[in-house]
Amino acid sequence: MFKALVLDHAGAAVGAKVHELDESALPAGDVTVAVEYSSLNYKDGLVVNGAGGLVKKYPHVPGIDFAGTVRDSRHPAWKPGDAVVLTGWRVGEVQWGGLAQLARVSGDWLVPLPSGLDARRAMVVGTAGFTAMLAVMALEAHGIATGGEVLVTGAAGGVGSVATAILAKLGHAVIASTGRAETHDYLRRLGARDLIDRSPFADAAARPLESERWAGCVDSVGGNTLARVLAQMRYGASVAAVGLAGGNKLQTTVIPFLLRGVNLLGIDSVMCPREKRLAAWQRIARDLPAAALDAMIVEAGLAEVPRLAADILQGRVRGRVVVDVNR
Ligand code: NDP
Repeated sequence: MFKALVLDHAGAAVGAKVHELDESALPAGDVTVAVEYSSLNYKDGLVVNGAGGLVKKYPHVPGIDFAGTVRDSRHPAWKPGDAVVLTGWRVGEVQWGGLAQLARVSGDWLVPLPSGLDARRAMVVGTAGFTAMLAVMALEAHGIATGGEVLVTGAAGGVGSVATAILAKLGHAVIASTGRAETHDYLRRLGARDLIDRSPFADAAARPLESERWAGCVDSVGGNTLARVLAQMRYGASVAAVGLAGGNKLQTTVIPFLLRGVNLLGIDSVMCPREKRLAAWQRIARDLPAAALDAMIVEAGLAEVPRLAADILQGRVRGRVVVDVNR
């Protein structure tokens, strides 16, 4: 038997409760992992609240990421005792996920726990932090200049917090955009050079080009914010489009691309190829300071996930929620 957060239909709504399940209920897969930690991401918020149509079949165990130890394996790459991490591959959406003491998945989806991280810290990073690293790597691949101001939107959230800490560690002048003044000290501790209120970004762009300011941007907000940011990018600079916390519509013009050679870089963590995953986790172990990681932690047990899942959709979670599935 193992403990899991189980989602099921309660009338039209989806209810979430911790249950004891029999191992025979686990889905097909060639590796069974004793999960130590999972985490809470924006997508987990959608899944746990039954939003976004992501889950087609109930009962369902959510959790789009986890870290733990291989218990049984029929996969050639893994043996019992190996420390592993999983993010993406639609685990926690179309297949049972990591908000449970046991998870069964394809061994092809696992990566080794990078040296320098334990299971808990790997899940403080989690999908949000892994995606932030992919965004930074994309900006680097497109020649982000050092010395200029780099904007991070949704800065006090999961992706934003990790992006702020990594970019600051790499020597960029991070300007953190947030709607929560109470997070300013926290963002400065992560390395933000300065803070900027998010509300002006919410207004539709009045002009196709505004004054050039940003040498790069990691955007987890989308919508009007992304449109405004595109109009403010410096010549040849890039925006990594990560999220849609502020909306999934993008109303813009082609002018920033044509007159300033601005690049709009799409970031996907779910189907990210294995080689890039391994490289990103190595970079995380190297470029994300432990002190910054520790400053981001909100720790929870399985039973607290439903409350926090509602909070994350309201933009009320600061940093990263790490879930101790054995608590
Ligand atoms: P969080 O909720 O932790 O962070 C989102 C932040 O966005 C909030 O903390 C808030 O920051 C800001 N925000 C929230 N609502 C609004 C709004 N209406 N207008 C403007 N800003 C808002 O989520 P995550 O960091 O986990 O995820 C961020 C986004 O990235 C999500 O859309 C998620 O789906 C996406 N994502 C995409 C991935 C990919 O593979 N492309 C992987 C992981 C996440 P503040 O309070 O500082 O203003």
